[in-house]
Amino acid sequence: MDFNFSDEQNQLRRSIREFAEGEIAPHVMEWDEVSHFPSEIIPKLAEMGLLGVIFPEEYGGAGLGYIEYVIAIEELSRVDGSVGIIVAAHNSLCSNHIFKFGSEEQKQKYLSPLAQGKKIGAWSLTEPEAGSDAGGTRTTATRDSNHWIINGAKTFTTNGHYADVCVAMAVTDKSKNSHGISAFIVEKGTPGFQPGKKENKLGMRASDTSEVIFSDCRIPQENLLGNEGEGFIGSFKILDGGRISIAALALGMAQGALDAAVKYAKQRKQFGQAISEFQAIQFKLADMATEVEAARLLVYQAAWLADQKDVRFTRESSMAKLFASEVAVRVANECVQIHGGYGFIKDYPAEKFYRDVKLCTIGEGTSEIQKLVIARQLLGKK
Ligand SMILES: Cc1cc2nc3c(=O)[nH]c(=O)nc-3n(C[C@H](O)[C@H](O)[C@H](O)COP(=O)(O)OP(=O)(O)OC[C@H]3O[C@@H](n4cnc5c(N)ncnc54)[C@H](O)[C@@H]3O)c2cc1C
Repeated sequence: MDFNFSDEQNQLRRSIREFAEGEIAPHVMEWDEVSHFPSEIIPKLAEMGLLGVIFPEEYGGAGLGYIEYVIAIEELSRVDGSVGIIVAAHNSLCSNHIFKFGSEEQKQKYLSPLAQGKKIGAWSLTEPEAGSDAGGTRTTATRDSNHWIINGAKTFTTNGHYADVCVAMAVTDKSKNSHGISAFIVEKGTPGFQPGKKENKLGMRASDTSEVIFSDCRIPQENLLGNEGEGFIGSFKILDGGRISIAALALGMAQGALDAAVKYAKQRKQFGQAISEFQAIQFKLADMATEVEAARLLVYQAAWLADQKDVRFTRESSMAKLFASEVAVRVANECVQIHGGYGFIKDYPAEKFYRDVKLCTIGEGTSEIQKLVIARQLLGKK
């Protein structure tokens, strides 16, 4: 068993860290304050291959695997979780759904520009009445000769306002329940398709989270993604990979919070010495570092499994997501505590990590839902 990263993987990590610290870090507080979507860094993310990490070069991707993908999300999120989630929703939800279930024509037409970062992707499963219970999807798609007509509203779609391509789930046969839900590719500018309310959020404020509205949105029949009725099952396969990216997002923010806490503890003096000299602070740092490392092992194990051929990794990706996101919340909490009053103000990164990490225990399935997934696997239930 070899826990070392290859030279190429270490080099990838160094180059993303350099980019994140040089070109993202100086702006994060300003972007957060005004909820600015950082369109200006999209071309650079594309140039670095980060908008098509896991896709083959023949489709314009970087031709790398989940290990490299996790390195990318971890390093971006160590500096800004918002950039991490923008990249994650684009890669492992929207683009990956097309890669895994799309026809060759769909891959050429939609995946190639997405993987090259010429277009941005979004993925809409959640609805106001269908969150954890995605089988309760109400958006409908009705066949009309060689078209589909979509009606309904999605909520909480990451990149909703900025996406050129949206993969959306809709009911095509109500009588079949979850087996009557299908996936569709909808392009920006299609009449009847428009982003709605942009959410004003606790954290991840530089990422866009929006409603997506379909009103008599007519799309060609060839925009059905995968087989009719398999959109719900397909979504769960996509979430297996997506959850690894949320785990990586949590890991990166936890590492960022730990680094900030160590730095501050060494600088801050009270009672005539650095607070890092107090055993109470040392114990906090030791617990934080140990938990981050344990999370890292689970996240990279899940990524390694995802890179193997024909291996199911539902359980491992849920475990990584559950553990890393709960660790990130605890570590960000301790980071604020170590900063004392300065952890509560916006001159230090602690308060932003504290706000941003909470999303990781909710997005792509809450911690409670991850436990249900893990238990189902343990008990041999479908
Ligand atoms: C910033 C952000 C970005 C997002 N991006 C996307 C995106 O790009 N695409 C997309 O489709 N969705 C996205 N989501 C939606 C996200 O996946 C859902 O919010 C999440 O799945 C939970 O659904 P819900 O919010 O409706 O909560 P609910 O399902 O209403 O859950 C409320 C509470 O009840 C608990 N609960 C529900 N069912 C059970 C159960 N069976 N057993 C035990 N407890 C249960 C939950 O754990 C939670 O604590 C995003 C959300 C946010 C906040």
